[in-house]
Amino acid sequence: MTEVIPSASPEPVPFIDLKAQFQTIRPEINAAVERVFESQTFVLGDEVSELEFEIAEYCDSRDAIGCASGSDALLLSLMGLDLGPGDEVITSPFTFFATAGAICRTGATPVFVDVLPDTYNIDPEAIEAAVTSKTRAIMPVHIFGQCADMDPIWRIATQHGLFVIEDACQAIGAEYNGRRAGVLGHTGCFSFFPTKNLGAAGDGGIITTDDSELAGKMRRLRVHGDLGGYTHKEIGFNSRLDALQAAVLRVKLRHLEQWTEARITNAARYTALCEDQNITDRVVLPVTKPGRRHVFNQYTLRVGEGRRDELQQSLREQQIGSAVYYPTPLHLQECFAGLGYKQGELPESERASAEVLSLPIFAELTEAQQDRVVAGLATALDAGKSATVSFPFNLPDSKAA
Ligand SMILES: *Cc1c(COP(=O)(O)O)cnc(C)c1O
Repeated sequence: MTEVIPSASPEPVPFIDLKAQFQTIRPEINAAVERVFESQTFVLGDEVSELEFEIAEYCDSRDAIGCASGSDALLLSLMGLDLGPGDEVITSPFTFFATAGAICRTGATPVFVDVLPDTYNIDPEAIEAAVTSKTRAIMPVHIFGQCADMDPIWRIATQHGLFVIEDACQAIGAEYNGRRAGVLGHTGCFSFFPTKNLGAAGDGGIITTDDSELAGKMRRLRVHGDLGGYTHKEIGFNSRLDALQAAVLRVKLRHLEQWTEARITNAARYTALCEDQNITDRVVLPVTKPGRRHVFNQYTLRVGEGRRDELQQSLREQQIGSAVYYPTPLHLQECFAGLGYKQGELPESERASAEVLSLPIFAELTEAQQDRVVAGLATALDAGKSATVSFPFNLPDSKAA
């Protein structure tokens, strides 16, 4: 047995550290959980109504409807808007599976169009080109915590009479020209999965809308379409939010702005550190577009083609967490083979899937941890092939905050 001198091997940097967050709010969480147990009301009820009110206030929407997950928020939106077989919904292939999964579950067809190379968000021009007589809705995804370019999307929607459903699951608190994600379409869909910027102690989701009739319908659909008194005009399903989740989320919502600001600060610091380490010729930093508040659910770099997996392996060996969101664009998933997309058809989405790498960005990340991440990244880059990669857009624009 060899003796290990603790200071000789630096502490691992986790990709995300939910325990660090819990340490800062333990008494508040415990009190909230205790309150729910005292009430013995575990499904919907006052805690959920209060959360709905607070989220509506936070996003500046008229209404908010709690549900069981972000995936269900998307599904309830589509069902609420009566989308189904024969309808096309234009969306991004560079996203979590649920975006397209929800569309298919209604019987509608997802139509994938390419993303922009700088923000990885859906390309409005590609949306315009994909509109057909069957198109009923556009589902932009605010990927990694930055809003899609909603002005042109809204213009296309208005022109063709389409619904806009925001997949804002990664973007609570993000802003577009001063307005929050969740009020930039007909509905906004949020996930409270534990790793999201506002995460529950399990699954949860919420839908925001300014349309009170639609809100009422989605409220019914989440309880099997019950009008009250076991009377059913529509067929819904069970997508109720637990009171325990709502109580935990209400505690965390009070801290969300501070956590978001910490993520933004961390992102700016990564930019400065990458510049200090002279690696910005080999990695492309995240771009924040003018007029947008990027809330950095992920801090995602682009690295040269063919180098990503090798870099991630090196970071792993240095015990530095990283993640790939998403390694396969949805149009190339086996389950969507029937839609007939070919490799090469949506090149920016495919290139993103091959080149992106996300670094730890959680609010509690320390400066020392960030120093270690960027030093580790520089080591990994220097160890690899020396090729400098050129990107089809300007590096000087690649500012992280
Ligand atoms: C997390 C996420 C979802 C799904 O949310 P769940 O709460 O996990 O069901 C949908 N879309 C995007 C973009 C997500 O990141």
